[in-house]
Amino acid sequence: MRRFQHYIDGNFEDGAHSFESLDPATGAAWAEMPEAREADVDSAVTAAHKALHAGAWPALTATARGKLLYRLADLVASNAAKLAELETQDTGKIIRETSAQIAYVAEYYRYYAGLADKIEGSHLAIDKPDMDVWLRREPVGVVAAVVPWNSQLFLAAVKIGPALAAGCTLVVKASEDGPAPLLEFARLVHEAGFPAGVVNVLTGFGATCGAALTRHPKVAHIAFTGGPETARQVVRNSAENLASTSLELGGKSPFIVFADADLESAANAQVAGIFAATGQSCVAGSRLIVEASVKDRFLAILKAKAEAVKIGSPLDMDTEVGPLCTNRQRELIGDIVARSVAAGAELVTGGHMPETPGFYYPPTIIDCTKVKAPSVERELFGPVLSVLSFTSEEEALALANDTPFGLASGLFTQNLTRAHRMIKRIHAGVVWVNTYRAVSPIAPFGGYGQSGHGREGGLAAALDFTRTKTVWLRTS
Ligand code: NAD
Repeated sequence: MRRFQHYIDGNFEDGAHSFESLDPATGAAWAEMPEAREADVDSAVTAAHKALHAGAWPALTATARGKLLYRLADLVASNAAKLAELETQDTGKIIRETSAQIAYVAEYYRYYAGLADKIEGSHLAIDKPDMDVWLRREPVGVVAAVVPWNSQLFLAAVKIGPALAAGCTLVVKASEDGPAPLLEFARLVHEAGFPAGVVNVLTGFGATCGAALTRHPKVAHIAFTGGPETARQVVRNSAENLASTSLELGGKSPFIVFADADLESAANAQVAGIFAATGQSCVAGSRLIVEASVKDRFLAILKAKAEAVKIGSPLDMDTEVGPLCTNRQRELIGDIVARSVAAGAELVTGGHMPETPGFYYPPTIIDCTKVKAPSVERELFGPVLSVLSFTSEEEALALANDTPFGLASGLFTQNLTRAHRMIKRIHAGVVWVNTYRAVSPIAPFGGYGQSGHGREGGLAAALDFTRTKTVWLRTS
């Protein structure tokens, strides 16, 4: 069985405890992971705190920090195949997707490498001739980066990149479900030559490792991605250290299709929008809101596409839908689909628990136009699409906004005037019009409502890892 290690203060360590990681394609244990508890967390935060204030890191210029980040980006690119394979092996996310996403990971590090020496302070025009007053931008401090299991390398990159560009140090907590790629990534941080303690990577369980990290007195900022319930715990923990938080949480994203849309292209986007990553994506377009006059036609196209999706081993390049990451998630999905059907929703396709080994669940579409089904309400984090329909723009909008979440949304129409009206009124941090899932390091990403606060990507994300110091200098 493969063994992985923590990376603390520039050293690779086994840790006093360990746990087994399961291969989601077979359900069998394949690797032994170190398990961090309070003492390991304390060592990592202490190392990050020391590295923030003394030694090589605070003495580096912003340009030099950027060069280290460029080196890291190159190492991610040259180790892409290995990282993608580990992510697939440990989480079941298909190799086609993990390979494509690693390219983005390198791109994000490159973007923040270039940004490191473009973070500026400012001069204030105070009405006093004998005073010079300016704002210095300084690193916010030690950052606790807590990530979920899905897209770990990517979700870590959107925190590590801007935090390092801003001059912070970090303790990154990989999810206990599938930590292998992030623990392996730590070896690239080491190879890139970051001073010891600047980036520390560990894993462990939320209630022990995650809690110890997010309430640690030396942590100044918590960059968290995960579910809303966990976020509430994290915010409670932050009441102890009064750390600032940025929260990237779940979603129940509406995917709105008007009758005048290009239905074929909307259907392709919907299939990718809900079944990519086996539906385990925060931006999954999990609520189809389709104009009633084209509902049957659109569902027929979707059903054919969903049934043609190739389900198989996540390590095969031609697999389009792989297993779920954990059996507990699969059982939860199965239960909610069964309860929705029992409530009167109609299965269009899928919805059965396969007998095969591994944590597979088929692409599923449920018509919920006649009943208020549980699958419409909560985030399932699986390959399940709930269908609703409308007869007016107002009704489409009301259905779209009928959720406490507000992460992403998709809008398909040829009528740009209507699109502009809808864009203004959709309660979501991202609106994709006639496209879905587009991302770029330049474009901020984040949620409204219970999908969280703070933005990742773009210049503003780097500024979130800084704080300002106001300087008053008497000149005469
Ligand atoms: P999760 O909330 O269960 O876990 C996320 C992380 O929090 C893990 O590392 C976990 O160990 C840690 N954690 C758990 N309890 C903790 C505690 N008490 N204190 C501190 N840390 C704790 O999420 P998950 O099941 O791994 O991932 C799925 C969720 O993540 C979904 O809701 C999904 O929508 C969300 N997500 C959001 C985004 C986004 O960018 N908005 C991206 C991906 C995933």
